[in-house]
Amino acid sequence: MGDDYESALEEKPLEFLASVANTGGSCDGQAIIPDGDRYRCWCSCGQWNVEASSQVEGLRLARLHTSTAGMP
Ligand SMILES: [Zn+2]
Repeated sequence: MGDDYESALEEKPLEFLASVANTGGSCDGQAIIPDGDRYRCWCSCGQWNVEASSQVEGLRLARLHTSTAGMP
């Protein structure tokens, strides 16, 4: 736990950034990135960018975003 756990979390968003860098415009993926004592959350569509108090909360908000943004 501790440092190892946090560094693992920070690596994944970087991979995520690389994987969606050329697929902008749709909700292909969401990132929950630790930022101080909060989590910065954003979506590959570029239209969703919020802060969450925990990673679980961020994931919940991300699901909420994709479920509403995916509606025609
Ligand atoms: Zn989106």
